[in-house]
Amino acid sequence: MLVAGGGVAALELLLGLRELAGMRIDLELLSPEADLRYPPLEVVEPFDLVPPSIALADALAPLGVVHHRDALMAVDVDGHTVQTYAGATLSYEALVVAVGARHEPPLPDTLTYADRASRAHFAVLLAEAEAESGRVRNILFAVPPGSTWRCRSTSSRS
Ligand SMILES: Cc1cc2nc3c(=O)[nH]c(=O)nc-3n(C[C@H](O)[C@H](O)[C@H](O)COP(=O)(O)OP(=O)(O)OC[C@H]3O[C@@H](n4cnc5c(N)ncnc54)[C@H](O)[C@@H]3O)c2cc1C
Repeated sequence: MLVAGGGVAALELLLGLRELAGMRIDLELLSPEADLRYPPLEVVEPFDLVPPSIALADALAPLGVVHHRDALMAVDVDGHTVQTYAGATLSYEALVVAVGARHEPPLPDTLTYADRASRAHFAVLLAEAEAESGRVRNILFAVPPGSTWRCRSTSSRS
């Protein structure tokens, strides 16, 4: 089985499959990054903190998963092959595409923390909130209804 993606969905699938099927199936991961992508921890970066990194190699080695450091470009469903951005062709019996979702800003004129590219915007916001100039005096944190994530921090800025 070939799994494309390097986030929790891909890793949990590999862990689950190994648990269920043992070594009866070959598992391969197609992901460009060396570390597991874990967005919940990335939000500390604008605060000048470094999130812990989880090396995929450490997680995959005990599972006997082959890691292709490359990215999925196209799928030939009939031929049971994928093309990678580096120009390789990989064959598969079963393919799981777990490459994450595309982020869309939910509200105009707001900041949404989508990924590491958002870090710079939030760093500026924090710097302006801390500055004596008072340019930013209130920050509204909006959470959509139905969210089940747990937030332990209760601190706020005003
Ligand atoms: C700021 C933020 C905070 C969050 N906080 C929480 C939380 O507290 N609790 C919670 O439960 N959820 C939280 N989430 C949601 C959670 O991060 C996602 O549900 C989860 O990361 C989805 O995992 P995923 O593996 O599907 O996708 P992703 O984590 O997006 O990983 C996608 C992976 O696919 C790889 N990839 C992309 N394109 C290709 C390609 N073409 N070929 C191969 N690989 C590719 C990427 O490099 C990446 O490794 C948060 C999300 C964000 C953005």
